[in-house]
Amino acid sequence: MIYGLDIGGTKIELAIFNQQLERLECQRVPTPTDSYSEFIDTLADLITQADTKYGIAGAIGVGIPGLVNAEGKSLSANVPCLNNKNVAADLGAKLDRKIAIENDCRCFALSEAVDGAGKNYTNVYGAILGTGAAGGLSINGKLYFSRQGIAGEYGHLQLPAILQQKYQLPIKKCGCGLHSCFEGYISGPGILYLNKHFGGDSADVPSLVKQWQAGDKVATTAFECYLDLLGASFATIVMSYDPDIIIVGGGVSLIDKVIEQLPHSIEQHLFTNFTAPPIVRAHFGDASGVRGAAILARQLNNE
Ligand SMILES: [Zn+2]
Repeated sequence: MIYGLDIGGTKIELAIFNQQLERLECQRVPTPTDSYSEFIDTLADLITQADTKYGIAGAIGVGIPGLVNAEGKSLSANVPCLNNKNVAADLGAKLDRKIAIENDCRCFALSEAVDGAGKNYTNVYGAILGTGAAGGLSINGKLYFSRQGIAGEYGHLQLPAILQQKYQLPIKKCGCGLHSCFEGYISGPGILYLNKHFGGDSADVPSLVKQWQAGDKVATTAFECYLDLLGASFATIVMSYDPDIIIVGGGVSLIDKVIEQLPHSIEQHLFTNFTAPPIVRAHFGDASGVRGAAILARQLNNE
């Protein structure tokens, strides 16, 4: 039995898989965000109940909305009680087993690389574009583990001066503490920000997409700028890792025109005669977080 846990800012999802990664069941409980002991107890209770039901101590993988550094300590803006805590060590001690833990966007990348949209490729980059912009690289079905666990944070590279000047964009402070990170312009909220910058007033991305499809002038300008910035951002992934495929998840990935036009936009920011890899939508969608965490747990326990 393998337990995949996806920690969100409001909900914890537990999915129970067999060794073939068939999902047997799934449950959700609210995330304790302020009390770390309550957080650990909540996870331990979920696991203990599952152990009892299936009569086996299952393997455990956890995806968190944040970073895990080389010492195993977390950094999470969405679940503040995790900051500076070693979830794998504390939960592992409580349940007496090894715990795999990783950033949720990298869990997504792993899930898509192993048996999702990237299963026929060697070097697979998985990028989430939703409320934020983050991702990770998988090589031969294994996540690329870097010195501090921050490789692939494409959303927190800074906007080039040439684009900032071209569109007269204000320098935004990012939630990560840096300035003018791509995330502030290329995430879902980023599209709305750009539309507002050009004089539009859409309240949400779907209505803005409708305006774009209907030929609205401001929406068209906003999306032209958006695709230029997103292309530049994804070009940094190509320049850094040159992956065989980039798989996109999150709300923005549902916009067909963005997925279709993105390769061309990336190529505007690459050397002449070098190409963008295929850009495809995620196969497992929202289920990728728990799946990736479960795959990590399976890999940890088979090593
Ligand atoms: Zn940032």
